[in-house]
Amino acid sequence: MRRAIVLATVVAIATLSIAVKAYQQPPAPRVVEVEKLKDNFFLLKGGGGNTAVFVMSDGITVVDTKNPGWGTPILYKIKELSNKPVLRIISTHTHGDHVSGNVEFPATVDVVVQENTAANMKMMKPVTGLAAPPAGPSIFEQNQGKGLAKRTFKDKMTIGKGPDQIDLFYFGRGHTNGDAWVLFPALRIVHAGDIFSGKNLPLLDANNGGSATEIGNSLAKAHSALSKIADTVITGHSTNMTMNDLAEYAQFNKDFLAAVQAEKKAGKAADAVAKAYTMPAKYAGYAAPAAARLAANVQIVFDETK
Ligand SMILES: [Zn+2]
Repeated sequence: MRRAIVLATVVAIATLSIAVKAYQQPPAPRVVEVEKLKDNFFLLKGGGGNTAVFVMSDGITVVDTKNPGWGTPILYKIKELSNKPVLRIISTHTHGDHVSGNVEFPATVDVVVQENTAANMKMMKPVTGLAAPPAGPSIFEQNQGKGLAKRTFKDKMTIGKGPDQIDLFYFGRGHTNGDAWVLFPALRIVHAGDIFSGKNLPLLDANNGGSATEIGNSLAKAHSALSKIADTVITGHSTNMTMNDLAEYAQFNKDFLAAVQAEKKAGKAADAVAKAYTMPAKYAGYAAPAAARLAANVQIVFDETK
């Protein structure tokens, strides 16, 4: 008798949960949009950071793999573009909207990142870049370490040669302390990741080594090293930019730093500085900073300025 009641209760709960599931909205379809930059080079948009697909003679290199659940749609889209195997992923930095899809790629795929990013990925929280990330295992812990870095570099690494060559660079702290720049010299294209996410006030992830005092210098270094060997900059989340856009963005970050440091020196409080900040007229076309981003970046300048 008691058994029957338990069974009836279990059935009732199961029925109820099916009913609730049916009532919920279905998940939005994961649409990957393709922008062809060269015959053997594609940008995949949607679902997080911009993904680059480089078709080489022996296989494919993918730069960044978007939010959780987007690795498989990326793999399906790649199959439409080429029948070659994916050989490696390069992750530009540790954030979940750039690395989470890594776990959906075959375990044989090589994963290459800057050495600080390798460490950051190992310690990753489920959501990074937030002041109070939710507790729980990261996507890599949930997948027994699959998708973590297999190879790292410190300042520079070259992979392949001739038309297949890829050069990885680290020019210093900015968005995080492990922002890789991925150059395809034969195509004169460089993927900057989120150290240049678009024409905006940058997200500085201080928890992962991001720096307000260094980002302008790191961007300027990238420009001076790459301006003669690349024309197109792929941003983390925006449209493609030119090397002149990169130079301007370096200056924009230096100007922001200098302006905030001058206010600090004059004795102003961080919140007053953030409230009074307006985008300089010469940066018309830059996104107006959200109040929270502005307050955070001003505070990071204050924290880093003695
Ligand atoms: Zn990021």
